[in-house]
Amino acid sequence: VILQTILVGDSGVGKTSLLVQFDQGKFIPGSFSATVGIGFTNKVLTVDELKVRLQIWDTAGQERFRSVTHAYYRDAQALLLLYDITSKSSFDNTRAWLTEIHEYAQDDVVIMLLGNKSSIHIKPLQTWFWQEYGVIFLETSAKTGLNVDEAFTTVAKELVSRS
Ligand code: GDP
Ligand code: MG
Repeated sequence: VILQTILVGDSGVGKTSLLVQFDQGKFIPGSFSATVGIGFTNKVLTVDELKVRLQIWDTAGQERFRSVTHAYYRDAQALLLLYDITSKSSFDNTRAWLTEIHEYAQDDVVIMLLGNKSSIHIKPLQTWFWQEYGVIFLETSAKTGLNVDEAFTTVAKELVSRS
């Protein structure tokens, strides 16, 4: 099974860094060009003895206008919506992203909200809030690798359990 996943969220929240960390297990400091993403990465995960190929698409450039090509939304089984925990505006903008997602994505799309750039692991208080909206929540760090594998594994598990 190939599961399409896309990374969305404001520019600078760490989407490309998260994907690089997941793909290569390392953090490359400094900004990636806002307009050049790494495209997509394929990763095979084993979930409940089932091999799942996650195809993860990075978005670049478009996020500034919150106008990710609508075809990407239509084809996605899962969306990772990132914000930067040190940037209130990037958090506030998740609401607009969710509106966009609900408008263009499939009704049963798995939505995972990731508070990136987290350096200490504190169980986030908002968890219940996001669960209420059917959104899975985790804090991640593309820098230290905190919860990066967990985020993708959780998405894959959720997709498998729903299929
Ligand atoms: P994108 O525009 O969403 O793709 O964001 P980038 O991956 O280009 O990252 C933007 C900036 O944030 C870069 O300078 C990264 O090095 C930095 N960054 C990304 N993730 C983290 C993180 O988890 N922790 C810290 N401290 N910096 C990060
Ligand atoms: Mg990027």
